[in-house]
Amino acid sequence: MSQAIDPEPPEYLPRSRIDRVERLLAELTLADKIGQMTQATMPEQVEAAERERLLSLVREGKIGSFLNVADRELRNELQSAAMEGRGIPLLFGRDVIHGFRTIFPIPLAQAASFDPGLARAAAGVAAHEASEIGIDWTFAPMVDVTREPRWGRVAEGYGEDPLVASRFGAAVVRGFQGAGPGAPGSVAACAKHYVAYGAAEAGKEYNTTWVPERLLRDLYLPPFRACVDAGVMTVMCGFNDLNGVPMSAHRWALRDVLKGELGFSGFVVSDWTSLREMICHGNCADERDVAFASARAGVDMEMVSTAYAQHLAELVAFGKVSLAEVDDAVRRILTVKHQLGLFESPYTKVRAVSVALAKGHLDLAREVARASLVLLKNDSHCLPLRADHRHVALVGPLADDPHNPLGTWSFDGDRRASVTLLAALRERLGSGARVEHYPGVPDARSTDVSGFDAALAGVKQADVAIVVLGEDANISGECRSRAYLDLPGAQSALLERLASAGTPLVLVVMAGRPLTLDRELAHAQAVLYAWHPGTMGGPAIADVLFGDVPPSGKLPISFPRTVGQVPIYYNYKNTGRPPKGTERGVPRGTPLDPVDMVASYLDVEVTPQFPFGFGLSYTTFAYSDVRVSAKRVRLSERFEVSAKVTNVGERAGIEVVQLYLRDRVGSVTRPVRELKGFERISLEPGESRVVTFPLGADDLAFSGPDLSVGAEPGWFDVYVGGDSRAEASDAFELVPD
Ligand code: BGC
Repeated sequence: MSQAIDPEPPEYLPRSRIDRVERLLAELTLADKIGQMTQATMPEQVEAAERERLLSLVREGKIGSFLNVADRELRNELQSAAMEGRGIPLLFGRDVIHGFRTIFPIPLAQAASFDPGLARAAAGVAAHEASEIGIDWTFAPMVDVTREPRWGRVAEGYGEDPLVASRFGAAVVRGFQGAGPGAPGSVAACAKHYVAYGAAEAGKEYNTTWVPERLLRDLYLPPFRACVDAGVMTVMCGFNDLNGVPMSAHRWALRDVLKGELGFSGFVVSDWTSLREMICHGNCADERDVAFASARAGVDMEMVSTAYAQHLAELVAFGKVSLAEVDDAVRRILTVKHQLGLFESPYTKVRAVSVALAKGHLDLAREVARASLVLLKNDSHCLPLRADHRHVALVGPLADDPHNPLGTWSFDGDRRASVTLLAALRERLGSGARVEHYPGVPDARSTDVSGFDAALAGVKQADVAIVVLGEDANISGECRSRAYLDLPGAQSALLERLASAGTPLVLVVMAGRPLTLDRELAHAQAVLYAWHPGTMGGPAIADVLFGDVPPSGKLPISFPRTVGQVPIYYNYKNTGRPPKGTERGVPRGTPLDPVDMVASYLDVEVTPQFPFGFGLSYTTFAYSDVRVSAKRVRLSERFEVSAKVTNVGERAGIEVVQLYLRDRVGSVTRPVRELKGFERISLEPGESRVVTFPLGADDLAFSGPDLSVGAEPGWFDVYVGGDSRAEASDAFELVPD
């Protein structure tokens, strides 16, 4: 990667287009401009003196944006100080990540639906609810591809695949931004955290990232490109040091790639104090250095720290940072404010009727949660539960918890609206049934086993036990990295104990990340992965457990058998010595002879516990007739892959049909397969559907030896199926024009 410095940044916004912004820019003093580049936070319990200090800074034009003002009156008071002062409206941002009052499943769960349309609708609802209290801008979607279940923020993104993250990212941007910038009920979106933050070494939060440019371009950049193409108005740069340069100073990535190559015309906001943190990173000596590095790199707005406020004027005066660079940043910020209509309508009015928690919003939350549930195991048709299951023992700390199933970033969520699984089951089964709840352990992380006996006694009496275990919200999300991926506290021991009762046992896992479930799988007849399912998680889980709707989610990330396999992902490289079979377990204590000299482990199978794309249904789907529309495809030609999918079971089902391609030979080594298309379809028993995926050379392109992007002639294998191990296949040859 080159870090070439050019004296003037290119201009990305045509000046003529936005006369008003240009006129305003011409009138502003340098101090006003720096004010626009400064974002402050308003603490929730703000003291009177701090509030006064902030109000007077606003009047003087020294703050251009706030985050964390989640109160309409306070917003309007600050806004009026801005309008009466320098006359430029403030922009109010907040982390509206997967819902506002109505909380939807965490983004990773939404990805499991493989239905970007649902995520778009959910983002639309979140925007509607948030905008009513005056939030103009959300810091979402997070489109950091990651192969790291240890990383707490895996919950906030769309998993390990760049196509899934791209489709969801673009859909969510459209959902938040509605009919267009400033449309009623919409908010500006922010694609974050640019770029490769999800590559944090060892899954440790805020850690160093080393990503070769090829991988950066082929894996981590595509979702940002998709968001830019979808019109995302802002981008947040990450906390991470990418290849030796923290993102807040990464001129090549920000100016050359994002604003240049990708044509991003909105503005870049830093992450929380990420500018000042460069002193800690060790690439800047002091805040003056910080302001210099970030302004040159193209960070347009500084979140919370104050390096720009304190040092930018001096840097401009000494010619270290050009006025053109400052103007470029301010032009971008004013353009967003202008597009959002803040100059015309700076204040937020009280809506006659609040839309928060509207019935339609709750219904959608239930629908999204249903679609995100992944059935991992279902022995002997344990699920769906039968109507004659009248005595249910519901065990576990998360079964009647209105808070933790909301997941990370749900601080504005109204937990009084949460419907727990206990409440949902009682409502559903009515007075003729017995649903008894035994927490088993006081909370998800507790090691207190004193509740085991009562839970076991209850399970012994019941027709079926539903055991809800997992992670509490507090160990998922930012700065919640884990080195162990098993169920925390005494939960695994609780499950083992309950299994001794002999009652059919359904394990429901609520978690913000993939967990290692090797031991638990042996103790439960059925396992439903529910992630953190949001406000309507309880009813959605009940709907699926009783078969009102079929389970249809698929894993958007590979589930390891043990932490030692991480990173484990489906689109890996073959190596020169791939393992022959798929399984190579070597139990402890057995001799290792003969050992194949292949890319594998001695002590665990090489495959994941559950592969990317995996998820069971209550029915079975058969794949046949996988066909490419031509055996020889010219580079410039469009073509199609089709496959017939048949529901060969006895129940209606929903399948996520997945298309994978393998580029057999490339000038650089190619992954064993890559997802190139997916579609969710519903099929009645016996029904078939031909699913068609349109493709072109763009879909086959990758970064070649000199990093130029393109598809290379040669043979491609095609696989269509219900997960990343899909076998039904065809092949075609790509030939030059
Ligand atoms: C997070 C961002 C978030 C910001 C503002 C940071 O700590 O990394 O994702 O948007 O805080 O709350």
